[in-house]
Amino acid sequence: MNEFDLIRTYFTHPAPGALLGVGDDAALLSVGGKGGALAISTDMLVAGRHFFPDADPRALGHKALAVNLSDMAAMGATPRWATLSLALPEADPAWLASFAEGFWALARRFGVELVGGDTTRGPLNICVTILGEVPARHALRRDAARPGDDIWVSGHLGNAALALAAFHHRLQLSPRDLAACLPALHTPEPRVSLGLALRGIARAAIDVSDGLLADLGHIAERSAVAAVVEWRRLPRSPVMERHLTDPVARVALVAGGDDYELCFTAGRRRRSRIEALSRILAPSLTRIGRVEEGSGVRVVDADGRTLDFAEKGFDHFR
Ligand code: ADP
Ligand code: MG
Repeated sequence: MNEFDLIRTYFTHPAPGALLGVGDDAALLSVGGKGGALAISTDMLVAGRHFFPDADPRALGHKALAVNLSDMAAMGATPRWATLSLALPEADPAWLASFAEGFWALARRFGVELVGGDTTRGPLNICVTILGEVPARHALRRDAARPGDDIWVSGHLGNAALALAAFHHRLQLSPRDLAACLPALHTPEPRVSLGLALRGIARAAIDVSDGLLADLGHIAERSAVAAVVEWRRLPRSPVMERHLTDPVARVALVAGGDDYELCFTAGRRRRSRIEALSRILAPSLTRIGRVEEGSGVRVVDADGRTLDFAEKGFDHFR
């Protein structure tokens, strides 16, 4: 049973009181009428699973909030409030001070108010719930892609996975290349401004947390369409470019997790507006493929031949 079967089997019940329930980057709840929706999402970081137990606490504070902000970005929502639940093996003031510094620095930048949480002793575990606001009709849902849409992605993909592969000795990176990839893994930048700018422009969106093929697969499944990605168009960092002959790097590019870039679809008529956005917003935006009728995700080469990748993305229970 994989992670998504598990969620589907045990925890996906109808939620008629919600605008959007289980299955997207955030749930949407209608509160106060007038077409506004509350977007709510939660993400947990577990020591030994999502990070090394001796990880830099400042980076952890950043990442715990960043991965949640990324889900707001993926919905086109303005992040507003958060709660923080912590299980800590011990109350270490130095660790806590650094963790809090990383958390608050990002919270201040995005105007997020911490409004609650829970603290307990236990194996290190960090869980943030985030709440944001979005007009319901502008929310960037996974189920809104249509055949004929372009597929776009922000920034470049796979640097976080390259750093992780180097830590696991599956790939050799020079100290310089490793240093270039580390920020993607430890202190990802959530694409909140981009998510907001895409309201009314993009149709479907998701943040790439488990790998492009897996996450684009969620858009394809929920929208009942096929996604075709052109290998040569995938945006690569200079480090990725240098290592692309290595199969580990090729898999990192299409299936590496932890990128927190946005992948979205938009009608062809939106191209010039998206290209204009790409010039004014960091990061740049790249058109990587198209939505077709059918199902599933395919990566094709320049001649349209399908490339096979054994790994599709990260799954906690596979
Ligand atoms: P994301 O990568 O955007 O955080 P996930 O892939 O983790 O999303 O989760 C997929 C969907 O399943 C989300 O809508 C999430 O809220 C939901 N979900 C995950 N675990 C549970 C659970 N235990 N109970 C109910 N819903 C869940
Ligand atoms: Mg997400």
